[in-house]
Amino acid sequence: MIDPFGRAITYLRVSVTDRCDLRCTYCMADDMRFLPKAELLTLEELDRLCAAFIRLGTDKIRITGGEPLVRRNVMQLFQALGSRIGGGLRELTLTTNGTRLAEFAPDLAAAGVRRVNVSLDTLDPAKFTAITRRGKIEKTLDGIFAAKAAGIAVKINAVALKGFNEEEISPMLGWCGEHGFDLCLIETMPMGEIDEDRTDQYLPLSLVRSRLRKSWTLEDTDYKTGGPARYYIVAETGQRVGFITPMTHNFCESCNRVRLTCTGTLYMCLGQNDAADFRSILRDGASDDELDGAIRAAIARKPKGHDFIIDRTHGGPAVARHMSVTGG
Ligand code: SAM
Ligand code: SF4
Repeated sequence: MIDPFGRAITYLRVSVTDRCDLRCTYCMADDMRFLPKAELLTLEELDRLCAAFIRLGTDKIRITGGEPLVRRNVMQLFQALGSRIGGGLRELTLTTNGTRLAEFAPDLAAAGVRRVNVSLDTLDPAKFTAITRRGKIEKTLDGIFAAKAAGIAVKINAVALKGFNEEEISPMLGWCGEHGFDLCLIETMPMGEIDEDRTDQYLPLSLVRSRLRKSWTLEDTDYKTGGPARYYIVAETGQRVGFITPMTHNFCESCNRVRLTCTGTLYMCLGQNDAADFRSILRDGASDDELDGAIRAAIARKPKGHDFIIDRTHGGPAVARHMSVTGG
């Protein structure tokens, strides 16, 4: 699948639920209302859509959410997709907050998951509870180490938040080095109404990087995960550190991905509102050929780039839907 700008679309991110057991302040409002279950694609529908994408050339699938591991019977989907590894699918992975990873890590490994991204914005237990509004850091840490023990490579995702974890990023890089984890830093993106003003949270990663260089040697590398992150090798630890900077740098030229929500809406760009509805196509009884045709037609509409800008006057979102809906 080649889009109108010559980019091969080989990466599908699938949100399997909008629900979550945490309420990170930059992601959700405290009183988030979730979708009725009937609106969600069933696990069988998700598998059928993923199979169609794989048929058309998708070789990497990331399961995300909301919190993917709170979806009931989600392991059935991992097992179904895992059985397609080698038959077109090259990599099956997930992004999780880690709270249920200790329970699922062995099954995920058995299903063929080799890498996992775990979100962790701080190593301080009290701050972890504050930023997630309810989480216990022990659970996430247990999950991280269970994944490692199961032979799954762990990458830690941390959102850089002004005045919250600025001082911790350097120690976290050391902690990741100690345990053999890569670290990927993310700028806050203006997605969905939350309870706080996003301009108060925004910390440019260019600043974080120059501060890190005071303590660490960041060596250039052309390592790419097919994502928008720019990676460096941390000479002192041998691990990688990545920076995802949607707000300060246009990351769209090499974009190879599209995103499917848990209701079957395909977004061709995280930062745009154009979308294609696959739930009605599936529920109207589309044949495989019709499904493939609808996917091709959607890819032909993939836009050149996103329009993220934080509105400096009111700090409101540039895109109304939450990251937990599109799948981060
Ligand atoms: N619940 C899982 C987790 O937290 O890893 C998966 C879904 S979460 C939406 C995926 C990623 O998006 C997380 O790393 C989270 O920190 C990030 N995220 C959520 N809202 C964001 C925002 N407004 N700007 C930047 N990153 C955001
Ligand atoms: Fe839940 Fe992930 Fe959003 Fe945090 S970032 S509220 S863990 S979906």
